[in-house]
Amino acid sequence: MEAGPISSIIPYRRFTREGFHVNSLVRDLVVACEDIWPEAWTMLNPIAFSHPLPTLTDADDVICWKGMQGDEVVFSVREACCSMVGTCPSVTWTKYVWFKGHIPKLSFCLWTACHGKLPTQDRIASWCSNQADLCCVFCNNCMDSHDHLFFDCIYSKDVWRRLKKEYDFYGFPERWSVIMVYLNDNRGPKKKSHRLALSSAVYHIWKERNRRLFQRITQPPIVLYNQIRDQIDLQVGDGISTNAWEDKWLSVGNLSSLIPYRLIRAAGFTKESTVSEVISSLDSNWPQAWVIRVPDLAELIVPQLNILEKDQVMWLDNNQTLTSFKVGEAWKTLVGDMEDAPWYGICWFKQYIPKYSFCLWLAILNRLPTQDRMLRWAPQSDQLLCSLCERSIDSRDHLFFDCHYSSSVWEKSRNEIGLDHYQGWEEILHNLIHHRWGSNAVRKKMFFAATVYFIWQERNRRLFDGRKRNPQQLFNELKASIHMKCLSIGSTMDVGESSRSTT
Ligand SMILES: [Zn+2]
Ligand SMILES: [Zn+2]
Repeated sequence: MEAGPISSIIPYRRFTREGFHVNSLVRDLVVACEDIWPEAWTMLNPIAFSHPLPTLTDADDVICWKGMQGDEVVFSVREACCSMVGTCPSVTWTKYVWFKGHIPKLSFCLWTACHGKLPTQDRIASWCSNQADLCCVFCNNCMDSHDHLFFDCIYSKDVWRRLKKEYDFYGFPERWSVIMVYLNDNRGPKKKSHRLALSSAVYHIWKERNRRLFQRITQPPIVLYNQIRDQIDLQVGDGISTNAWEDKWLSVGNLSSLIPYRLIRAAGFTKESTVSEVISSLDSNWPQAWVIRVPDLAELIVPQLNILEKDQVMWLDNNQTLTSFKVGEAWKTLVGDMEDAPWYGICWFKQYIPKYSFCLWLAILNRLPTQDRMLRWAPQSDQLLCSLCERSIDSRDHLFFDCHYSSSVWEKSRNEIGLDHYQGWEEILHNLIHHRWGSNAVRKKMFFAATVYFIWQERNRRLFDGRKRNPQQLFNELKASIHMKCLSIGSTMDVGESSRSTT
């Protein structure tokens, strides 16, 4: 309800008098009331009960949260990424990055690169004075930058050369500034396979660079190229949206790269023919001329069309198996398989707030880009200082616990969570895993995640925007956000839970 939890509008005895109790579900209430609020309630608070009762549907209750435009949206990986990294402007080019069937981790990397926000060496050099050791891991010729790493470097050039040949992806620019002009002018890649090739190449080059830098493992361009190619695959459904020649829908590769166009024409097809048209006219046998040209085709059964399903882009998950695109799967690939972790329930509980939990999750794994982690990329930097206390560099432990700013925020949050005084992540996690949450568990867990999120947000605000809040102001905003959250989900969550949550 917009007015808040029912418990805050009418006294509990009025609630029980109508036959409800503390564990009543919204469903019980809607069914019992038959579209009309109990008269005794409307008399007590006409305004709060002026809205009609919600209509029930078969769908599950959904948590909505403030999207980038300030509207309530259902949680998605993209929204989470945007809220973690910064605002996501609604510009033309986002459709070339976040298109239907995109692969989240690839798009995320491309999106960050389009903003020029990957921590390349030229950017690290601008943050710290010592730059002696910075050198491109592929060619050792110069510092790496977005332009060098993805296009100018001899390694990347090799990857692109193969990719452009395989996917007939010629003519696409090879400088970020020009790419952005292209994307803004609506001249971005039209084909799904080209869009995937772009994001896949950027992602794999970036991943290979980090692998060489941090793990000292090297792969030649051909291996990288094969990984990219394997990722761009299509599963044929009705065959209508897949181009028979350009898209890769057969394990042997793109037909356009295997069979000369004259043979395609001879079989009665054009460059625009879809998989649907080809399969329906082939009568379960490949044309003899094609098999002579590509002997592997003989082994390959002509796929069956399934008119009930759309063609799908398939992609490799962490187990290296092909799965169709699902947000849940994407989420797992992006954040790892976390269901076995003992702290799973602290982070991902029913009614969790995605951006808070996502931040907490990164903090638990020590994956937030804190300054101690940046030091590993750029040693001997002496300009890094915790933006909250300005006394030492920030690390995960300093930022969230040792720092006196955070300590005073925790001082206030601890009361709400019902937590003793603990120092450091190891200790606090160990205790939270065995913590008896008691009543109000959801609100307490929200509070824990929110405290981590707000401290991280404050740290970034000070670093990048120069805006400051004192611990009390921060805590007030934090508390208000939890209160608002409890109000907004009050109508869909267990009435008893919400009444306990707000008392
Ligand atoms: Zn290089
Ligand atoms: Zn500090």
